[in-house]
Amino acid sequence: MSSKTLKEADRVMTICNACRYCEGFCAVFPAMELRRTFSETDLKYLANLCHNCRGCYYACQYAPPHEFMLNIPRAMAELRQETYRESSWPQAMKGFFQNNGLLVTLITALSIAVVLLLTLLFQGHAVLLGTHRGEGAFYRVIPYTAMVFPFMALAVLVVVSLGKGFVHLWRSTGGTPEDLMSGTAHRQAITDVLKLKYLDGGGYGCNYPDERFSMIRRYFHHAVFYGFMLCLASTTVAFFYDHLLHRPAPYPFWSWPVVLGTLGGLALLVGTGGLLYLKNQMDRKPATPETLGMDVAFTVLLLLTSLSGLLLLCLRATTLMGSLLAVHIGFVLALFITMPYGKFVHGVYRYAALLKNAVEQAREDI
Ligand code: SF4
Ligand code: SF4
Repeated sequence: MSSKTLKEADRVMTICNACRYCEGFCAVFPAMELRRTFSETDLKYLANLCHNCRGCYYACQYAPPHEFMLNIPRAMAELRQETYRESSWPQAMKGFFQNNGLLVTLITALSIAVVLLLTLLFQGHAVLLGTHRGEGAFYRVIPYTAMVFPFMALAVLVVVSLGKGFVHLWRSTGGTPEDLMSGTAHRQAITDVLKLKYLDGGGYGCNYPDERFSMIRRYFHHAVFYGFMLCLASTTVAFFYDHLLHRPAPYPFWSWPVVLGTLGGLALLVGTGGLLYLKNQMDRKPATPETLGMDVAFTVLLLLTSLSGLLLLCLRATTLMGSLLAVHIGFVLALFITMPYGKFVHGVYRYAALLKNAVEQAREDI
């Protein structure tokens, strides 16, 4: 880990610990106040606990142009980025966090091209451009074995990779195996996640996209989170329909997989579109330029995945179905491949930090 990043995080936290003006803004300041000095472990924990609400940047009398040049959101984001690299599994993939936006874009383009070309090669253009209706229509374009087995294998790899990353981050932020077993702490951390509690900036919202307080980022983030969960639920229900009820897709508009998927897709569209709009409007001074590409690439990929899924739903009875299915599968493939090596990991690692925070706060309350 770059000592420059750690030194800067240590410097800003040491100044804040003497000041404590921002203690009501988020979980970082109460956690900071439990410490007199900051080890590498402490700083990594605090960096992942920061939700980048920017409240402490606009409130700070020592922020630029003051000579102290205090920029907590940027210092925390830079350190967080280093913990992502350090916790990635396998370690050979840690370089993926550099130029992440470009790599995610290339992998997405490649995934779509590969799925389209393979479909054309093995199924022929008559199948790709033909009209297919009724149960099993999707499998007539991309066969069951090609659709299900590669994604099952990829899903296992993604879960293992994210799980290993979580364990690495948990250890490197000072978490113990005993704390990991605390049901009370998990309940608190899950509640914090479901409410996105620390995007409320102490009750008034984030200072995002500019210095004015606003809840808009929290609402868009909620839309992305719950949209993603609904799409996951839709895929799970469809899997049971297919394998237990022997009813392959596509399903009627009022079936559970379609209703859940449509609601999830629409929520994702609104959430990702809104977050991209805010990112375009945001004040860049508290941001770190190094992570901008990663944030944008992941959000755009989510947006295009949901958009292609919704278009597929609307146009599934037309000759465009085959091409749309191949493009949608290409987006999903890119999402799976890049999930453990991009912005998605912030959800997993922030959960680890919130869990540690719940353990610490519970000890303080005793
Ligand atoms: S960010 Fe500035 S105002 Fe807030 S606690 Fe730190 S030094 Fe004080
Ligand atoms: S940016 Fe927001 S979440 Fe991060 S330390 Fe500052 S006030 Fe806390």
